[in-house]
Amino acid sequence: MRPYVDFSKRSLSRLETVVTPLRWVILEVANVCPFDLTVLEGIRSAERQKELYSKGRYGNPGPIVTHIDGVTNHSMHQDNGHGKSRAIDIAPWPLDWDNKLAFHVMAGVIFSVCTSMYGTRENLRWGGDWNGNWDYRDQSFHDLPHFEWREGTGELPHSKRP
Ligand SMILES: [Zn+2]
Repeated sequence: MRPYVDFSKRSLSRLETVVTPLRWVILEVANVCPFDLTVLEGIRSAERQKELYSKGRYGNPGPIVTHIDGVTNHSMHQDNGHGKSRAIDIAPWPLDWDNKLAFHVMAGVIFSVCTSMYGTRENLRWGGDWNGNWDYRDQSFHDLPHFEWREGTGELPHSKRP
């Protein structure tokens, strides 16, 4: 069956930089998500993390986008020691940051696919619900495109691999 979502080459190359179990979830999400998606970022260099950290700090304009400086604290987007990122930033396409509902629908699809593939959603942490309590209002910091994979989880039997 043709996937609903045709990832662009740019999205697919970003997806290549993400740890395998998370990459498999996102590829399967493409088969069931009712709208297009774009991969904003996979792996991130320390320099890029420092650049993001400086947004909204040191007199730079805009809101603060991360609490991780890339040096003292490493982002889940930084190299996990095997050249991969444990985190992905993904968004509904066309990109509309004001359409928060679309991000929540996307997260529902991603968690649903994760649960059907791995039997649990515990492997996956979302920036829209950091503590995983299903309450989306108790957050001090929202990062709706951000999903991360807990290390050491998510071995799929060969028969279930895409
Ligand atoms: Zn992220």
